[in-house]
Amino acid sequence: MVDFQLDEMQEMLRELAHQFAVEEIRPQAEHWDTDEVYPLDTIRAAHEMGLLNLHIPEAYGGPGLGCMEEVLVNEELAWGDPGFATAAYATALATAPIITGATEAQKQVWLRKIAEEGALASYAVTEPGAGSDVAAIATTARRDGDEYVINGSKMWITGAGYADFFFVLAKTDPDAGYRGMSGFIVEANREGVTLGKKETNMGQRCSDTRSITFDDVRVPANHLIGESESGGWMNAMQAFDLSRPNIAAHATGLARAAYEHALTYAGER
Ligand SMILES: Cc1cc2nc3c(=O)[nH]c(=O)nc-3n(C[C@H](O)[C@H](O)[C@H](O)COP(=O)(O)OP(=O)(O)OC[C@H]3O[C@@H](n4cnc5c(N)ncnc54)[C@H](O)[C@@H]3O)c2cc1C
Repeated sequence: MVDFQLDEMQEMLRELAHQFAVEEIRPQAEHWDTDEVYPLDTIRAAHEMGLLNLHIPEAYGGPGLGCMEEVLVNEELAWGDPGFATAAYATALATAPIITGATEAQKQVWLRKIAEEGALASYAVTEPGAGSDVAAIATTARRDGDEYVINGSKMWITGAGYADFFFVLAKTDPDAGYRGMSGFIVEANREGVTLGKKETNMGQRCSDTRSITFDDVRVPANHLIGESESGGWMNAMQAFDLSRPNIAAHATGLARAAYEHALTYAGER
């Protein structure tokens, strides 16, 4: 039987996240949303406090915690402000396909950048013509010597305007359907990367959601996740297994906050 009793460490972690939400998130949430301010300083503070990217293993500089610890923290952050929770979680989403599919050497580079240097990253899969149906993506990556050349557009990418690098899903074999997909790390400052305008998301205006265009963007061949073509689709799906419980935790935290506000208001009116 599943036991939902929290242990002492989990209780402490939840309390830490709740205090952070009370002191650092709630007082600024309205300003962030109304003025569409990306909460960069508070994301950095949450990272410093050990509240973000909890599933990065200790071998790569992370805390190496599990899904249960991560959802406890994410529920509290979303209780503070769902926009902040979305913005702060974008990097963890991008780490998931690195954890599930990258080589040891790639993990040492890219996961450590996040865990130890506080780098930010985005998960770039969705396209103007491919949402739920991930197999319909049209972005391509063509091998050219020691490099890949990436062309295409991504849409609704959370954190794109502040990311240091992206996880990008592209087709290396366009005729092979979902079997012909591969994942790449693409630094945001590569030539040919262009960001679209920031979207205005209701209730999540502080989160930076944008399109990204890749126009003959060249990356070294060792930026191919796992350093072997194909397998990208399965890896992107496994990444969702790691990440989606946290999106549900965001909804739970938001619902709890809405209930508490309604209860207080009902008692005052
Ligand atoms: C705020 C925000 C942030 C996002 N951040 C990211 C991000 O960081 N990275 C990223 O890659 N993407 C991101 N996305 C994109 C998100 O993953 C897509 O919106 C999602 O995959 C759904 O795709 P879509 O919007 O094109 O909807 P569609 O796939 O067009 O779906 C529209 C509707 O049709 C339904 N539907 C679809 N297919 C079927 C079917 N076969 N049978 C029955 N019903 C169906 C869906 O349930 C939905 O109700 C973000 C989106 C939003 C809104």
